[in-house]
Amino acid sequence: MSQQGFNAIALAIPVFFLLIGVELWVERRERRLDSGRTLYRLNDTINDLACGTIQQLVGVFGKTVIFAGYILIFESFRLATLDPGNWMHWAVAFLGIDFFYYWFHRASHEVNFLWAAHIVHHQSEEYNLSVALRQSAVQQFLGAPFYWPLALLGVPPMMFLALDAFDTLYQFWIHTRTIGRLGFLDAILNTPSNHRVHHGSNTKYIDRNHGGVLIVWDRLFGTFQREEEEPAYGVTRPLANWNPLWANLQYWGELLAVARRTRRWRDKLLIFLKSPGWRPADVPFETPPYMPIEGRKYDARPPEGLAGAAVVQFLLAMGAVIALLFGGGLVGTGAKLALAIFAVWGLTNVGGLFDCRAWLPASEAARWAATIVAAVLLAPGEWRLVAGAAALLLAVAALVPVLRQRARFVRPARVEERLPVLVTQEEGARA
Ligand SMILES: [Zn+2]
Ligand SMILES: [Zn+2]
Repeated sequence: MSQQGFNAIALAIPVFFLLIGVELWVERRERRLDSGRTLYRLNDTINDLACGTIQQLVGVFGKTVIFAGYILIFESFRLATLDPGNWMHWAVAFLGIDFFYYWFHRASHEVNFLWAAHIVHHQSEEYNLSVALRQSAVQQFLGAPFYWPLALLGVPPMMFLALDAFDTLYQFWIHTRTIGRLGFLDAILNTPSNHRVHHGSNTKYIDRNHGGVLIVWDRLFGTFQREEEEPAYGVTRPLANWNPLWANLQYWGELLAVARRTRRWRDKLLIFLKSPGWRPADVPFETPPYMPIEGRKYDARPPEGLAGAAVVQFLLAMGAVIALLFGGGLVGTGAKLALAIFAVWGLTNVGGLFDCRAWLPASEAARWAATIVAAVLLAPGEWRLVAGAAALLLAVAALVPVLRQRARFVRPARVEERLPVLVTQEEGARA
């Protein structure tokens, strides 16, 4: 999904959650009929939503930059002007947006520096509606130039934003395993069946079905694959980590490490431009952190009794971002920045909680200390005491359960020392 029309996307948040609720209801009903069918795991879903929350947050701060190029080209260099009063022009503009989306999405899979951003959307080993919200924080900046030809052709910015939002919102409902094949629709549109293939890590499903709304582009340009066996969802070398910041940075780190280690200058550049399957001759692929075992998924869980606390922390962080999305205009820059830091730090710590990281208790204590200071400093004069006391109460409520269980937070932060925690699909279903 591209992210230009994110005001519409922010407004659609309640609808997203309603539909996730419907999917959860379907899951419960079907699990009664056919034991062992799980669509959602708490750790995986929270991680998807944390990535989506950070992406929206970055969008709040970056939206002007993202759209500036489009507006400049439209205002100064356009060759024609499409008329928003003419439905034929809307149809042409829609085909244009969906066409350039196909090429941006395809390039995002075939060029390493674009894949470094887009990979976030593909890291989940589940396939459900929350995966649709799992988006990269930086992809929104990389995608903008792909649509500049539309500015040159004279698609007015408002028309572009409306259609781009439609293209993005359309792709929400296709992230589900609850809808099977759809007959002739599967031949024309991007559907749940077609997009399940796109999220498969099976050899025959890799780099297939890049279309946004129309799947016709894949048929035209030779990237179409029909859904045959159920895909194994995720990427070929799993992330095995619930930290949403790490999800956004991990692949960049890998590319930079290759660039540093390879000797030829040409290869230091090429590693960013070649496909994800390429490595310079002197830096071949290393053994992955762990090999995905057929049917096994990363499934680290928080210490006994802390799952509820993790959910509350997640909701507080998401609340801060929603406050920024809808009420950002009401507060000053300092408060905005404080809310953003509180949210990103909180979402990172929620990941650390699920991963049982050794750094989590200290990081959570530091975050709440900073929150108390920020509440006192940023609240209006007469509210300082109230804000400080409220932050202190929240801090105690958040920290006591974590500190009680601090002996359980033992897993090292360093990736190469990471112990894989695996679960089979059957074990996951039983839990
Ligand atoms: Zn993709
Ligand atoms: Zn997707």
